[in-house]
Amino acid sequence: MTNPAEQSFDAIVIGAGFGGASCAGLLAKRGLKVLVIEKNARAGGKAMSISKNGFTCSPWVIIGAPVVGNLYQVVLDELGVSDLAKLLVPGTQGSLFKTSSGEYKRLPQMPEGVTMDPNVLFDWLEVPQDVRGSTLQFMAELTLMPREQALKLHGTTFDSWLRARNIPKSVYAFLVSLCCDGMFMVPVDTLDAGEAITSLQAMFLRNGGVFCEGGWGRVAEAYCEAVRRNGGTVLMGERVKEICVEDGEVRGVVTTKGTYRAPIVISNAGIQPTMLKLIKPEHLDKAYVSRIKSLVPSWSLVGYRYFLSGPITDAPYGVLISQDSPWSLERFNQAKRGEASKEGVVYFEIPSNYDPVCTPKGKHIVLTGAFAPANPDMSKEELMSWVNAGEETMFKAFPQMEGLIEEKDLYTTKDVSNLTREATVPGTGGETIGLGQIIGQCGPDKPSIQGPLRGLYIVGADAGGTGVGTQMAIESGMNVATAVKRDFEMRRANP
Ligand SMILES: Cc1cc2nc3c(=O)[nH]c(=O)nc-3n(C[C@H](O)[C@H](O)[C@H](O)COP(=O)(O)OP(=O)(O)OC[C@H]3O[C@@H](n4cnc5c(N)ncnc54)[C@H](O)[C@@H]3O)c2cc1C
Repeated sequence: MTNPAEQSFDAIVIGAGFGGASCAGLLAKRGLKVLVIEKNARAGGKAMSISKNGFTCSPWVIIGAPVVGNLYQVVLDELGVSDLAKLLVPGTQGSLFKTSSGEYKRLPQMPEGVTMDPNVLFDWLEVPQDVRGSTLQFMAELTLMPREQALKLHGTTFDSWLRARNIPKSVYAFLVSLCCDGMFMVPVDTLDAGEAITSLQAMFLRNGGVFCEGGWGRVAEAYCEAVRRNGGTVLMGERVKEICVEDGEVRGVVTTKGTYRAPIVISNAGIQPTMLKLIKPEHLDKAYVSRIKSLVPSWSLVGYRYFLSGPITDAPYGVLISQDSPWSLERFNQAKRGEASKEGVVYFEIPSNYDPVCTPKGKHIVLTGAFAPANPDMSKEELMSWVNAGEETMFKAFPQMEGLIEEKDLYTTKDVSNLTREATVPGTGGETIGLGQIIGQCGPDKPSIQGPLRGLYIVGADAGGTGVGTQMAIESGMNVATAVKRDFEMRRANP
């Protein structure tokens, strides 16, 4: 076999997360000679599959959206690898709301034969009869707002947009905690309203709750297989140390094992690690570097993988919310200082309830997650205070759970960082999504997919997409593939 280090490529992709793998697959299919270099042993990045105790599933709660027209499938189909990753849509969910009596109550199913009765949701959220009409009108405004109008809200926070509408506290909690906290992982008074509304519309009109048999990693693995089938090379377990630059243009990369040449380098390593670690500072403008340093990542999710001897619910996934669960920046900072409760929204996913291939017969696995700072270097004490708050909430909602635990694996901000991006700016690295979808970082203010050097591109959650993390990374992969193919053709025309 030829040593790839002796070859040159049309494009090198650093990282096989959802952004990098989708982009690489599409470029290879469209005729470019592609090299993918991934530091982990498996593709998928933040959404890679893991195997333990006979289970194969996502490593933590990962709920895909939208269902209808999702890009996971669009790219699988275009690459001709849909047989390698089967998407699953369980069709129900089991979120629980903490009622005024302090009990967690499950979102009821629609009565048989009824497609959508808003009273089912309003009863669950204890919305008083006299404001149901105005609340429904508000939900219609949100769901049907024309796209141009929603995009004009870039730069306004979702919290201020919601507060101007004077909706019941429980409906605010439903929209913020159940829908937005997990989708974006940023406090609602920093969340960009344009990003929130367009993403909520996609979820309401095209549904949420899509998963992959054997864990989400299979999707990225399938995209990498498409690279191989189209003549490309995928190197696993090899870390890029440097992006080579000469005369303001990228020339290739240096890894832990060799040097590879290409006029186009596409980085899925995160915009901050790419600009602050992989490229020598002398190649970048100081003002640009300081803008990159000031970017704010999303917050982090921490929790457990529980291996249980029995079921706690038949729900495939769900969210635990209360009137007080939404995270504002002020409440988060107070909780961080120990001056307010850390009880917030908790996500759970139960692959053994929806995925026939994930689980040994009769066994149960529950993945959970709760908010925490993105800092991979926080103290054990601080970390555990966030983890414990999530676990206590889970036990309140499912009192029988504690007695069913056979084993539990903690996952932390450090684990997420080790698996994906290293901390470059203090407090970053363990983020759930990528760059936070906050005002000043969305719409026209989102970093460009085109880097500041000729031939350098950024792919993944940090540039070129919108919406929920995995979907956003693939949208970016598609957009970057289109831009790179054009760049490649231009270079051919004008060598
Ligand atoms: C706990 C948790 C829960 C989540 N829940 C959801 C959810 O419910 N729904 C949802 O849609 N999304 C969810 N996400 C977010 C989603 O997984 C991410 O937003 C998305 O997968 C990011 O993809 P990406 O392509 O930007 O990059 P990443 O996934 O970060 O992938 C980057 C890849 O680059 C590799 N890499 C980095 N540096 C180098 C280097 N120097 N050399 C070689 N390789 C390198 C990494 O190893 C990694 O494989 C969750 C994430 C976490 C951590």
